Amino acid sequence: MAERSSAVAGGVEIERCATCSAACPVRTDTRAYVDLITQGRYEEAFEKIREFNPFPSVCSLICHHPCEEKCRRQDVDEPVALRNLKRFASERALDYRTRTRRKADITHSETIGVVGSGPAGLTVAHDCIKQGYAVTVYESLPKPGGLLSCGIPKYRLPDDILQQDLDDIVALGVDVRAGVAVGKDIGLQDLRQKHGAIVLAVACPRAATCPWRTATIRTC
Ligand code: SF4
Repeated sequence: MAERSSAVAGGVEIERCATCSAACPVRTDTRAYVDLITQGRYEEAFEKIREFNPFPSVCSLICHHPCEEKCRRQDVDEPVALRNLKRFASERALDYRTRTRRKADITHSETIGVVGSGPAGLTVAHDCIKQGYAVTVYESLPKPGGLLSCGIPKYRLPDDILQQDLDDIVALGVDVRAGVAVGKDIGLQDLRQKHGAIVLAVACPRAATCPWRTATIRTC
């Protein structure tokens, strides 16, 4: 994985980033990708966007873009449309991304089991396989993606956009076993024997229910 830029001041390590990058949950280097886009270097911009983020296409559509709230350009007129620029670069880099997909080198004998294929589970899988660990992801639902695939309306996140990011992760060699419920189809103990480490990245898919069985609403 790429290293983040940091400096040490007074014995404290400080991450160097702009206010927009600091507001981004994954610290995307916003200035770098915007700069690359202005130079027409869309594929490099895309690489910069996914440097710390295995879901660039998803985020280009549904991220609530806290980066833009901190964009200092709004002191002059309005914030830079960072999320839309991410979408632009992702669309421009579509062929490049398909062309350059390849398996990660597996350099460790230990394997990693991940339970849950939502954004957390697949990000772990992505990062671990890039560091040379073979990864198997167990997903109880029939398809991967977790809430990205079954909790967000399609008009907000169409399947083909999610699929672009999923295809990148699977192309690295991550073994996604959908339709396998841990605790039912395979036991946690089995996973412990099979893998050097297990990551539980399960969701909380049941909505909270109203504690009252019936409620009477009075209108006047
Ligand atoms: S749109 Fe979201 S993911 Fe992209 S830079 Fe802004 S906060 Fe980060």
